[in-house]
Amino acid sequence: SFKRIAEVDDKVKSFLTLNEEGARAHARELDEKLASNAADRGLLFGMPVGIKDNMVTKGLRTTCASKILANFDPVYDATVVQKLHAADTVNIGKLNMDEFAMGSSNENSGFFATKNPWDLACVPGGSSGASAAAVAAGEVLFSLGSDTGGSIRQPAAFCGVVGMKPTYGLVSRFGLVAFASSLDQIGPITRSVEDNAYLLQSIAGHDSMDSTSANVEIPDYVAALGNDVKGLKIAVPKEYLAEGVEAGVKEKVLAALKVLEGLGATWEEVSLPHSKYALATYYLLSSSEASANLSRFDGVRYGLRSDNSESLIELYKQTRSEGFGEEVKRRIMLGTFALSSGYYDAYYKKAQKVRTLIKQDFEDVFTKYDVIIGPTTPSPSFKCGEKTKDPLTMYANDILTIPVNLAGVPAISVPCGLSDNLPIGLQIIGKHFDESTIYRVAHAFE
Ligand code: GLN
Repeated sequence: SFKRIAEVDDKVKSFLTLNEEGARAHARELDEKLASNAADRGLLFGMPVGIKDNMVTKGLRTTCASKILANFDPVYDATVVQKLHAADTVNIGKLNMDEFAMGSSNENSGFFATKNPWDLACVPGGSSGASAAAVAAGEVLFSLGSDTGGSIRQPAAFCGVVGMKPTYGLVSRFGLVAFASSLDQIGPITRSVEDNAYLLQSIAGHDSMDSTSANVEIPDYVAALGNDVKGLKIAVPKEYLAEGVEAGVKEKVLAALKVLEGLGATWEEVSLPHSKYALATYYLLSSSEASANLSRFDGVRYGLRSDNSESLIELYKQTRSEGFGEEVKRRIMLGTFALSSGYYDAYYKKAQKVRTLIKQDFEDVFTKYDVIIGPTTPSPSFKCGEKTKDPLTMYANDILTIPVNLAGVPAISVPCGLSDNLPIGLQIIGKHFDESTIYRVAHAFE
């Protein structure tokens, strides 16, 4: 890993912090373990992983790609980090992202922008852009990302790798720096579907440290890959192939459906009628939650503390003005407005109601079908700088991924071909806690 990183990372720019010493020491420990008791090996023994920089790692810098946390060294490991350690993986380092996971291109990082390994002039997607780029560029075998509105699936699609957003509650959020707590979910990014199933197997499971963690039996995801797709009923929402979705993308998705048909599955067009409200609902709810979650960065408790203040209020103000980037400030203002008295009912409360309708759309479809399939994004990756001026066109990127987070259901993005020499992602959405069926369908493309 480190050799490959030295070769390519000055171009791709995936890593914010390398854990070279720690990783080498851990690898030596694993060697000793192997020599003394070869039978006692973790599921992912010796595998190099990269971790998005919004998951805390004990003693290893964790910044969320924000200047406000530029000097923050956590005192504990996130549950997923502990679990990866128990699986005997080696933590190679911390991966760049959009600041506090707000963005779709990695251009909102407070430090530098990661590039797409397929074309360095293009964005890798976001906010887990570097988690996808590092896997695509061969810098690590596995990585962890987080997905609030598409941040695992969209970069996986843009970088031609496999990214899974698990069911809300399947993977513990303990130690994940919160953006929008009712939507955030950690998930695996890998080259193959099989690797993805192994990585999810290692991180899923109940955790008493996360009150939203689900207490469910974890199935054998890897075993599920052995089952074929014969007889499976697939729903294709017409809203997911509507105008706005590029012809090249549509063509590849229809070709993928043909492949599944050839394997004995059937598909029909359905409707998710409330999807048109998903984007507005998401930006209201996620910004509201973010405005509350990010109030903890006040210059007293963590990270940056401004030198330019004479009073406590000024200290808060100065620290937050100097430490947060533009997009983060925009979301905090939007969220604070939506939650303020007099506007709460019109915005936040209304958005919660629409969220319920969106969730019901999915439930209705899942009474008759096993999975929902569509593209992950309306277009392949775009040029760096192309959408930075206009937040609304940037937000529109997530139009096909956001409904899934609002409904809490799981979804994967798997590569399904190229358009203009850039990868396209196929999105496979499943029922709550039915990651196994998603993997089964995704595996048909390997
Ligand atoms: N791009 C979306 C946003 O900016 C989604 C981000 C995410 O999933 N973390 O909010």
